[in-house]
Amino acid sequence: MSEVNSIAVVGAGAMGSGIALTAAMSGLKVWQIDVSQEQLDRANAYHAKTLKRSVDKERISQEDSEAALSRIEHLTDLAGASDADWAVEAATEDAELKKRIFQQMHATFGPQVVLATNTSSISITDIASSLPDGADRVIGMHFFNPVPVMKLVEVITGLQTSEDTAHRTIALAEGMGKTPILANDRAGFVSNRVLMPMINEAFYAWMDGVAEPEAIDGIMKLGCAFPMGPLRLADFIGLDVCHHIMMVLYNELGDQKYFPCPRLRQLVNAGRLGDKTGHGVYEHD
Ligand code: NAD
Repeated sequence: MSEVNSIAVVGAGAMGSGIALTAAMSGLKVWQIDVSQEQLDRANAYHAKTLKRSVDKERISQEDSEAALSRIEHLTDLAGASDADWAVEAATEDAELKKRIFQQMHATFGPQVVLATNTSSISITDIASSLPDGADRVIGMHFFNPVPVMKLVEVITGLQTSEDTAHRTIALAEGMGKTPILANDRAGFVSNRVLMPMINEAFYAWMDGVAEPEAIDGIMKLGCAFPMGPLRLADFIGLDVCHHIMMVLYNELGDQKYFPCPRLRQLVNAGRLGDKTGHGVYEHD
């Protein structure tokens, strides 16, 4: 493990709660922060349930499970986490919100603390530009969902990110049991630049009557050895998130091929956002 012993995770949604759990399981003291107490309670329940399942499946001992849980502290205010050695932001995908949070993190943590973001698509350089100084310690640390299971961390260096920050981020990701891979700060980075147009095309295939969602997903699963088809994956990620990322690709790269499919836009406008609302391409329990 690197010199990092504790971490502040800002945002306790799908990603923040997963990052917090993974960090705690790797031995770090964790401050899980969210403006919503309800989200913190939900994250706490998710941590307890996931650790219990790991004990039941004999992946970890009861003792290790209790120790990991006891390392996570829940807060609604960033100030309580000011002793953290590292900060990672995993709040809602909104550039202005992230910039505000980064300004708070900059004011809260000492200059040696790396300020990382789990953004899926927002420019790291742009987020860093909102700070009065210290752009060299801002970096993208893009985990994948579900965080405890997925091995990859896409590490994105902004224009001013220092080599030291990048090296330390790689060391921390490895210490958390992940495989970091570097990418540059271009719209969608690598993962979403490649994945999202495929998901968008699956919506076009559905809209154009090429096949129904079950068949599109079945063909892509069996034909490409994907664990789930692109439309099922879109529901899992969140259709609003997919739409937002396509708009970032479209606006940044200026090519019509990135414009979100009307079928995707329609579902988002109807509030059918996927697993999180219970309805999306598919119906969910
Ligand atoms: P989510 O909607 O599940 O959670 C976002 C959380 O941020 C909410 O709990 C919300 O209360 C909290 N929040 C909002 N404002 C805040 C503030 N000022 N301070 C602290 N918390 C605040 O979203 P998510 O899916 O967990 O995504 C979080 C980030 O991770 C986004 O940037 C997203 O693009 C990225 N991401 C998502 C996925 C995915 O599959 N969902 C994968 C990789 C990266």
